Amino acid sequence: LEPAFQFMLRIVAPGGVATPAQWLVIDELAHKYGNGTLRVTTRQAFQMHGVLKWNLKKTIKTINDTLLTTLAACGDVNRNVMSNPNPYQSEVHGEVYDWARKLSDHLAPRTKAYHEIWLDGEKVVDTQATGAEVEPIYGPVYLPRKFKIALAVPPSNDVDVFSQDLGFIAILEEGRLIGFNVTVGGGMGMTHGDTSTYPQLGRVIGFCRPEQIVDLAEKTVTIQRDYGNRSVRKNARFKYTIDRHGLEWFVDELHERLGWQLEAAREFHFDHNGDRYGWVKGSNGKWNLTLYVQSGRIHDQEGYALMTGLREIAKLHTGDFRLTPNQNVTIANIPNAKKRKVVELVEKYGLTDGQHFSALRRSSMSCVALPTCGLAMAEAERYMPSLIDKLELVIDEAGLRDKEIIIRMTGCPNGCARPALGEISFIGKSPGKYNMYMGAGFTGDRLNKIYKENIGEQEIIGTLTPILHRYAKEREQGEHFGDFVIRAGYVTATTSGTNFHN
Ligand code: SF4
Repeated sequence: LEPAFQFMLRIVAPGGVATPAQWLVIDELAHKYGNGTLRVTTRQAFQMHGVLKWNLKKTIKTINDTLLTTLAACGDVNRNVMSNPNPYQSEVHGEVYDWARKLSDHLAPRTKAYHEIWLDGEKVVDTQATGAEVEPIYGPVYLPRKFKIALAVPPSNDVDVFSQDLGFIAILEEGRLIGFNVTVGGGMGMTHGDTSTYPQLGRVIGFCRPEQIVDLAEKTVTIQRDYGNRSVRKNARFKYTIDRHGLEWFVDELHERLGWQLEAAREFHFDHNGDRYGWVKGSNGKWNLTLYVQSGRIHDQEGYALMTGLREIAKLHTGDFRLTPNQNVTIANIPNAKKRKVVELVEKYGLTDGQHFSALRRSSMSCVALPTCGLAMAEAERYMPSLIDKLELVIDEAGLRDKEIIIRMTGCPNGCARPALGEISFIGKSPGKYNMYMGAGFTGDRLNKIYKENIGEQEIIGTLTPILHRYAKEREQGEHFGDFVIRAGYVTATTSGTNFHN
């Protein structure tokens, strides 16, 4: 008798966009073959947990039938391409989303093995007759490590563009997209106790036109394919390749492979990296509602039937759904005529835009961790809400209920919830114990720094209480928490990943 092995499926959705029909299929599969919940990831993908081994093939085939896929959602290839969900500027969203799709399609592995194994089982390529399959971009051994790309539309840095291997910052002129600034060499993961590993921020290397980004992404990926560290997996990410060889070397190599040169970077300005909740009318006259989803977990609870509510909305919705980079959901492009019905369903099922929660909770993010992630050393998704309950008592007392402070938690230093960019962050060390970090930039432009090591809940609250009270009293006009803790001397500013551990 075979044990009931269960699996997690990650479903690629470039830019986090899913149609109502796709939403309904994924919802149905989660009930039929999964554990009856869905998880919105920090890369705008879906995760479905608890799929038993003998249901994997049926589940994957049905996902592919809806024109979504699990191909390249994991592995040493380009992962789900992120883009700003942007309910405000409909045309710009459409254009940037199209580029996200093109990047995703172009960098998808060409292997037919996926189709042979998971879809119809037919051998698509007879490699005995034709020789080995050719991967034009990845080659025979793929990349040394995963590769991540995101497109940001200022002033929102919700995709945390500087945390990506390759980032594109949209540059608009008179509301029109004229191109992108390019960032390279960001990444969040590290290993506890190994200072040769560190989170790093991407650096801006220039500007290119929209029609050049696919070529640029391909050549960047091939440089990492050829120069990435294949001996030491912990140092295999693109950020280490850049830091080892230097940014100048990379730009020269890139220009040589492209046969054209980047232009000088253009001015841009980010003012936040969190989500903006609630109703917004887009420039196309349609409505968008961004809902708050704690830790990205979609399920039904007493008085809060999020999963049922979204299913009922999907049945009548004619626009799309957007998974945000902060694990929330936007119901996008709702025509005037349908808005009332959506409002009724939102009220009926207790869905929320989170306005009655503290700004701290609305600015929180945590990874899946225990019990589903095999790498987790401590809780994250299941623990973060109760930690915030306790911190809310402190911020209420300090008068900080409406102050956005970016707070993040992960169960291990792999960094899936981008913890190195939290103004306050916790990275799991062992059950109930975390390293605590502070001092990241509110717009995602500065890494944080370790403040306390291996602490439990009592010490977390005891440590943060006086700091939050001091912040409430002594902060300057408009000063964010991450800036304050540096000015007040709690931590020094991390100016580069290479001095993250200093
Ligand atoms: Fe990612 Fe680590 Fe969290 Fe697992 S425990 S989801 S690997 S950060």
